[in-house]
Amino acid sequence: MKQIVIVGGGAAGLMAAAIAGREGARVILIEKMNMVGKKMGITGKGRCNITNSADMSEFIHNTPGNGKFLYGVYERFSNTDLLNLLHSWGLKTKVERGGRVFPESDSALEVRNTFIKVLKKYGVQVHTNESVQKIVVQNDKVTGVVTDKESYACDAVIIATGGKSYPLTGSTGDGYKLAALLGHTITDIRPSLVPIVIKEQWVKNIMGLSLRNVEVSIISKGKTQSSMFGEMMFTHFGVTGPTILSLSHTVGKLLRKKNTNPITISINLKPALTAEVLDKRLQKDFELYSKKQLINGMKDLLPQNLIPIVIGLAELDSHKPINQITKEERLRLCHVLQHMTLTVEGLRPVEEAIVTSGGISLKEFNPKTMESKLVQGLYGAGEVLDIDAFTGGYNLQAAFSTGYVAAMHIVHGDD
Ligand SMILES: Cc1cc2nc3c(=O)[nH]c(=O)nc-3n(C[C@H](O)[C@H](O)[C@H](O)COP(=O)(O)OP(=O)(O)OC[C@H]3O[C@@H](n4cnc5c(N)ncnc54)[C@H](O)[C@@H]3O)c2cc1C
Repeated sequence: MKQIVIVGGGAAGLMAAAIAGREGARVILIEKMNMVGKKMGITGKGRCNITNSADMSEFIHNTPGNGKFLYGVYERFSNTDLLNLLHSWGLKTKVERGGRVFPESDSALEVRNTFIKVLKKYGVQVHTNESVQKIVVQNDKVTGVVTDKESYACDAVIIATGGKSYPLTGSTGDGYKLAALLGHTITDIRPSLVPIVIKEQWVKNIMGLSLRNVEVSIISKGKTQSSMFGEMMFTHFGVTGPTILSLSHTVGKLLRKKNTNPITISINLKPALTAEVLDKRLQKDFELYSKKQLINGMKDLLPQNLIPIVIGLAELDSHKPINQITKEERLRLCHVLQHMTLTVEGLRPVEEAIVTSGGISLKEFNPKTMESKLVQGLYGAGEVLDIDAFTGGYNLQAAFSTGYVAAMHIVHGDD
């Protein structure tokens, strides 16, 4: 019977432990926090977007950080395989807009509890409040691990320590050090799916304001680099929300390139309307409110606290009577409504990112087995590797699938 140590009880480590246990290995799962799955418990705003119903090509497309590496992994354990497995463990799921899969209960804690239940069933030993400090290797082969409490002999180790984002959940980048000590390359560690810091100070005045059904575009060198339709939110430092988090990947790339400044964000507050139709709509409102001041004539079109901002950006006087607004001034307002511009200052730090971009280099891992090409018996799974995806359940699927493939290979050998 093989003895396996799994370092980290997040999505990847929990899946690997459950599968290795099910397949008959002796498994010790070591988790440095006081419980497993802390991050899993806060995923999807507490609802856990487990995976996506998209096909595999969509998965690869939505994984800008080394999606192609996952072809071999997803062939062995796909989203359908994951859902069949979770259903067989008693977790019911549902599919929502954009193919996002959630537990029917809307509870991320139920997903975590399902894993805890299964680990018990398969006799996995879970050691919480214990931190792995070193992986022991002799003659290029794993022989054990050393923690802050004990040493363990083993045949194989899976590093599943997660990335560097949301460190309060336990992912503090330990896996990079453990792997680097064994000769592995660690790529640049950067934030991905992260809020964006904006230069304009007026964003502070509307912090908390959420916009739905807007089109957000990233502009650099006079060209639209990427755009997205959906929700966004203003904060005290800039902007966040689903569209912004996804577009942060493009912003990060531009920030690393030369001569891309200034990078701006253009928000189309009325993307369903052409410029002409929007102007007609504004004319209608202005007829209705012709005796009011400008500040009081746009309430049918915009959230209240956005009105003074839009008027300011159009360089108009809020108190000007509407019946004195010229055509040129009205067209200026229309332009701002469809091209509200913010200047990017930078990204928030990796600790505030939903995922970490970069990690242990994939060049040194076999995508069919998740085993290291440098050290026999050493495996990697989840976000600690140089993999990152967009929102939609793609990151958890990557963690679950890599954990699954590693566990199966340790127990059953060559595929
Ligand atoms: C707020 C938020 C919401 C998210 N929502 C979603 C979502 O809905 N859908 C989705 O697909 N993705 C989501 N993600 C991303 C997803 O949660 C991660 O990609 C995924 O959890 C990575 O799993 P992992 O097992 O690789 O790492 P983690 O879940 O980070 O787990 C790593 C574990 O290793 C432990 N550990 C670290 N070092 C050591 C050590 N030295 N010894 C022992 N243990 C150690 C940590 O304590 C931790 O428990 C979200 C992320 C965040 C921050």
